[in-house]
This record gives sequence, C-alpha cells and structure tokens, in this order.
Amino acid sequence: MNTQLTSYQHDMVLSELLDIVGKEDLSIATPDKFVYAIDHYWVPEMWLDRGKQPVLPDFVVHPESPEEVSRIMKLANTYRIPVTPWGGGSGSQGGSLPVYGGIILDVKKLNKIIDIDTRSLTITAQAGINGEHLEWAANQKGITVGHYPASQRASTLGGWLAARGSGTLSAKYGKAEDMVMSIQVVLPSGEIIRTLPTPNHATGPGLMQLLVGSEGTLGVITEATMRADPIPEERRFRSFLFSSLADGLEAGRRIMTARIRPMVIRVYDEESTVKQVKRVLDLTATGTYMVVGFDGFKDFVDLEEKKVMEICLNIGGKDLGNEAGWKWWNHRYDFYFPPRMKSLPRMFGTTDTVCTYSNIEKVYYAKKEIIETKYRKWNAYYQAHFSHWYPWGVMVYDEFFIDKPPQDPHEALILHNEIWADLVRASISNGGVLNEHHGTGMKLGWLMREQYGPAFSTLQSIKDVIDPNGIMNPGKLGFALKG
Ligand SMILES: Cc1cc2nc3c(=O)[nH]c(=O)nc-3n(C[C@H](O)[C@H](O)[C@H](O)COP(=O)(O)OP(=O)(O)OC[C@H]3O[C@@H](n4cnc5c(N)ncnc54)[C@H](O)[C@@H]3O)c2cc1C
Repeated sequence: MNTQLTSYQHDMVLSELLDIVGKEDLSIATPDKFVYAIDHYWVPEMWLDRGKQPVLPDFVVHPESPEEVSRIMKLANTYRIPVTPWGGGSGSQGGSLPVYGGIILDVKKLNKIIDIDTRSLTITAQAGINGEHLEWAANQKGITVGHYPASQRASTLGGWLAARGSGTLSAKYGKAEDMVMSIQVVLPSGEIIRTLPTPNHATGPGLMQLLVGSEGTLGVITEATMRADPIPEERRFRSFLFSSLADGLEAGRRIMTARIRPMVIRVYDEESTVKQVKRVLDLTATGTYMVVGFDGFKDFVDLEEKKVMEICLNIGGKDLGNEAGWKWWNHRYDFYFPPRMKSLPRMFGTTDTVCTYSNIEKVYYAKKEIIETKYRKWNAYYQAHFSHWYPWGVMVYDEFFIDKPPQDPHEALILHNEIWADLVRASISNGGVLNEHHGTGMKLGWLMREQYGPAFSTLQSIKDVIDPNGIMNPGKLGFALKG
C-alpha cells in the first residue's frame, strides 16, 4: 500500500481521477479534506478539538455510477493507494476515516431509487441514498422500509448495511441485515458483482451476508434491494414503570419468548430513567421505565397490547398508559441531538453489545462495576437502556461518561482506549459480542482477534483473496496492513 505519494504520482492519480469523475466530483481542497477527517468517533473529535492535526485524505471523489466506482478501484489498485468509502459519516467507530490517506469515495451521489415493487413489497435504491429520503419514497407508495436509526437523517442505505445497523423498530422489522434481499458491490479489483436475487436459498454459502457488515473493507456497496412492509393501519405505544431493572428485563423477556411481536421494547435502567427519560418526557416517578410499541391491523394491536399488559402488570409494572409512550416516540431522537446529545468536552462511549437473556444481567453489572470502581477517580458514570430485542436475547445500549477527562490529548486517548478495552472484554467474557449495531471500524478493530479467536484467520484469508493489495479501507476491522 502506497501511503506517501510522490508529487508526480499525486498528479498522475489526480489527472486520472479527473478523467473518471470530472471536475465537479473531485476535490483536493484542504477544507473539503477536513470534512472527512472526523466522523462521530470520540478520539478524532477530541484530537481536532485539542488542536492536533487529523489524518486527511489526498483526494475526495463523488462517483455517480457503479462504473465510475469500478474505474476508481482499478486506478487505486494500480497505484496501491487506499480507498475509504464514506456514506453519511454518521458512524461512531472511525470506520469511514481515511487513516492512511488516499481516496475518500463519498457515495452520496449514488442516490437514485431504482424500483419499488408494491406487489412483492421490495424497494431497490442506490446505496448512497439518505435514509429519510428512502423512507419518504417508500411511503409515497404506501409501504415502509421500517429502518429508523436515530441517525436516519444523517446516514445512508449503504452505511446501514456496511455497519449492520439497527433501527428503533427492530424488534418487529429486524436489523438492516435482516431486511436486505440483494446487493450490488464493486470489489477492490473493480469487478461489479450482484448477489442472488433472494436472501433465502440453498445455493451455496451466503455471499451477501459476507459483504454486509464488512464496513467498506471488502468492496463498495452501490445498490441494494430491501424488503419493505405495509404502512400499518394502527400504531400504539404503552409504557410502564417497574421498581427494578430486573423486573423490566423480565417483562421484556416474557413478551419476546411468548413470541408476541411488538415493534419496539425499550427498557431504561434506573440511572437512564432519572437522567434521560424524566428530563425528556417530564416524568416525575422513579424506577425503570419501559415503553412497548405495536403496529399492524387494529385487532392485532388490541390483542398484543392486552397480552403485554397482562405480562407487565403481573410482574408489578405500573401502567403509565398510552400517552407517555406516544410522548417517548415523538421525542425519541431528542436524546441524540442538541442540547441533550453527548458532546465534548465530556468523554463518552456507547459500548453496545448483545447476548442471551440468561447472560444479559451479568454483562450489564460487570460493565457497570468496572466504570463505578476502576474509573471512580475520574468520576466516571454509567447508564444503559435495552433496545433491540430478539427471540433469544437482548442488546444493551450502555454508555460511560467522564465529564472532565484529561486535557492532554495523548493521555485522553490512552484512557479512552483502556476503558473501551475493559468494557468490551467484560462483554465478551460474559457471553456478549464486541458490538451490536455500530460496527467495529478502527475503534474496535484491534480487539477483533480476541473476539474471533482462531476463526479470525479465516476472515483474514477471505480479505487477502478479495483485496490482495489491501487497498480497501485499511486500518479497520483488525485486518493486517499490506505493503
Ligand atoms: C446521533 C447518532 C445516532 C445514531 N443512532 C444509530 C441507531 O439508532 N442505529 C444504528 O444502527 N446506528 C446509529 N448510529 C450510527 C450510524 O449512524 C450507523 O452506523 C449508520 O449505519 C452509518 O451509516 P453512514 O451512511 O453514516 O455510514 P458511514 O459512517 O459513512 O460509514 C460507516 C462504515 O460503513 C462504510 N460504508 C459506508 N457506505 C458504504 C458503502 N456504500 N459501501 C461499503 N462501505 C460503506 C464506511 O467505510 C464505514 O466503515 C448513530 C449515529 C449518530 C451520530
């Protein structure tokens, strides 16, 4: 991999890129390069905030067709220069940062709707389309994509798939990888391939699912067909207050293992109920807040709500009615945007993980204890909610905060990484995984080998075959650097 271009090589690459995408779709201006120096990963934000120089790309391109992407890949392979795909840049793991320079391949001009099939309920679009635009287009035809990440307005279809994202309504509609039917991908070689037209088949191993979640290390997703759903006749929310987190989690477990299909369950621990829910929803009670949402035909919703009520009241939940649930839904994004969002100068991290119902409390308490004992000297604190529910287990969206982290950027980086390693190891050793829906990027790449054990060499071998020169998004997912 060539990370130090001579000025001759730089200008050769520049002139070839101009030939591929044209002047309008290429920039080497420093302010433009700075746009791509940070995503939502705390370390580069802090780095820039403390006056340190971030790593910048050499070129920023905005291809408008898969063929242009293909030519860019071939060029990058000739010169052995890194290519980093960039969707909305809303990722929190440093996945889209050009840590070894080279080309930023911003996919946002690949934003066309290609087909909406209202008979089969599928929608096909180019991968750079903004999440909210995709949902609007589906809604015009009476269907919904059903993927509502808190970053919906800031992220792209390709980014959802590349990082295996989860939306608010995942309990019913699934994660991004459950919704995808088929993808078109430009491989590092420049070859344009398409996976099988249906996600379920008995035609060899799952090539599509290998590429989904690869965070730009195996190719560029240029198009995807997603399964959609009808816009529901009825949507309803009900919320409850439990006296303990254990009771809230037990209610969620009983709902899911009874195979009731709410579209969302969210349980907040006591800390989050006080710090987040009460502030945003103006609730006065204390305890563990839980919201459950239902949608579909009105009779189905009536029945599901009745069954959920029985379960929750049985465990001692206090019924807060429908209105508090609607309030939560209408304010669901407030937690992530100003003035309530997490931001500098605080140090923070969301170390989400997922495991079975049998392990979830072990994971939560192990991580909470680390923050509250080992990092007490920093007045670190921990809070969590449980927001993606599966038939077999649940995800914990847990966060740590330090209001006054070290001022020295090097010290701050070391402390940040030490906390992350402790928390991730606590997840793994108690039956959880490195991450549930944010991906691993550069933040967690160095822990991939610990997560996979000997199986990581299988992943590395696949990477070596698909990307022999190591040009695709180097420095991510723990893959070895080439050259
Ligand atoms: C306020 C906020 C709230 C968030 N809430 C959620 C949430 O509720 N659920 C959730 O899942 N995530 C959430 N995220 C994280 C983030 O939005 C998701 O990871 C999202 O899927 C990233 O999409 P993106 O288009 O912004 O991708 P980027 O950040 O641009 O890229 C993410 C990774 O995917 C790669 N990539 C991007 N596009 C392509 C492509 N076309 N082909 C190949 N690789 C590609 C990049 O190289 C990078 O490795 C949130 C982030 C923020 C800032």
